Amino acid sequence: MDTIIIFVETKGDEVRKASMELLCEGARLSAGGKFAVEAVCFGPLTLALKDRLLASTSKLVHFTDASLASYSPEGYAYALSGYAREIGAKMVMAGATGIGRDFLPRAAVILEAGMISDATAANWDNDPLTFIRPQFGGKVFAEVSFAQSPIVVTMRPNSFAMEMPEGIEGEYVERTAGVPDGTIHTTLVRRGEAKSGAVDLTEADLVVAGGRGLKAAENFKLIEDLAGLIGATVGATRSVVDARWRGQADQVGKSGKTVSPKLYIGAGISGAIHHIMGMDTSRVVVAINRDPNAIIFNYANYGIVGDLFDVLPAMIEEIKKRKERS
Ligand SMILES: Cc1cc2nc3c(=O)[nH]c(=O)nc-3n(C[C@H](O)[C@H](O)[C@H](O)COP(=O)(O)OP(=O)(O)OC[C@H]3O[C@@H](n4cnc5c(N)ncnc54)[C@H](O)[C@@H]3O)c2cc1C
Repeated sequence: MDTIIIFVETKGDEVRKASMELLCEGARLSAGGKFAVEAVCFGPLTLALKDRLLASTSKLVHFTDASLASYSPEGYAYALSGYAREIGAKMVMAGATGIGRDFLPRAAVILEAGMISDATAANWDNDPLTFIRPQFGGKVFAEVSFAQSPIVVTMRPNSFAMEMPEGIEGEYVERTAGVPDGTIHTTLVRRGEAKSGAVDLTEADLVVAGGRGLKAAENFKLIEDLAGLIGATVGATRSVVDARWRGQADQVGKSGKTVSPKLYIGAGISGAIHHIMGMDTSRVVVAINRDPNAIIFNYANYGIVGDLFDVLPAMIEEIKKRKERS
C-alpha cells in the first residue's frame, strides 16, 4: 500500500490548524484503505499534544534529535526527506504555512521529487494522483500530476474538512534523524508573537481586510470593529502596509500572506492582481467599493457599491443589533 507522510506543525500545546486539516484528510484516507498515512513531527511534545496526535493518526513518528528541537529549514528538510526515502513514501504533504512553504521545497530537492505548492484540492481516486492549484490570481485552476513518485505537496489551509473520524488509537514511534554536523546553517534566535488573541491570518476562517480607500491609519478602527464583532482576523493591502497604517504581518497578496477563509470582506480595495493572488481561494468574498468598476467586484460573490464610511458603520450597527437580539 502507498504511504503518505503528513508533516505536523505544532505551536505550544496545539496542532496548527493547517496540519490538523491534513490529519483529518489523512485519517479518512487511512479508513478508506487505499493509503497508509503516517504523521511526522519534530521537537519536544507535551503529553497532551502527543495524546491528541495519537487520536488523529494511525502512526505518529516523532523525531527527538536535539538539533530538531527548534525549526531550521535544513534540519527539517534533512530529517523529513530521509524518512520519506527510507520508507519509500509515495507522497510528503504539509500545510502551506510559513514553515511548510519554507522547507518543503528543500526536502523536494533532496528527494529529487516533483513539487506542487499551494494546492487547494486533491483527487485521491486518480492514478496518477492529481492536485488543483490556482494560478494567475485564481483565473486558472491547473490540474497537476507527476509521472514519478515521491511527490511533495503543500496544501493551502481550509482545503480539507476538519472532521476527524472517532476511535483512532495511533501507534507511537520515537526516532532520531542523526542530522550530521554542519547541515544546519540557520539558528532560531528569538520567537515573537505578533498579536495575541487573533487567529493567524493564513488559518483564519473569517478575514476583514482594508485598502487605501480607508484613507488613514486611524480609520482601520472600522475594520477592527467589524472583525472583532464577527471574530475575524484583520488583513490589509500592500498600499496600506507601505503607508505604515498596518504592519507587514497583515499584508495579503503576492508579496504578503495567502488567505483561504470561508468569508473574506474587503473594503476600499481596488482588486489589483497582486492582492487577488493572496485571497482568490476565499470561499465567499464580499467587496465594498464606491467605484462600480473596481476589479475586486469581478472576484466578489456579493458586491456593495458605496462609501465604506457609510457601509461599514451600518454593517457594524446591524450586527450589534442582531447580537443583542439573540
Ligand atoms: C511585485 C509586486 C507585489 C505586490 N504585492 C502585493 C501584495 O502582496 N498585496 C497587495 O495588496 N498589493 C501588492 N502589490 C500592490 C498592488 O499592485 C496594488 O497597488 C495594491 O494592492 C493596491 O492597494 P489598494 O487596493 O489598497 O489601493 P488602491 O488600488 O489605491 O485602491 C483603493 C480603492 O479604494 C476605493 N475607495 C476609495 N475611497 C473609498 C471609499 N470612501 N469607500 C469605498 N471605496 C473607496 C477606490 O475606488 C479604490 O478601488 C504588489 C505590487 C507589485 C508590483
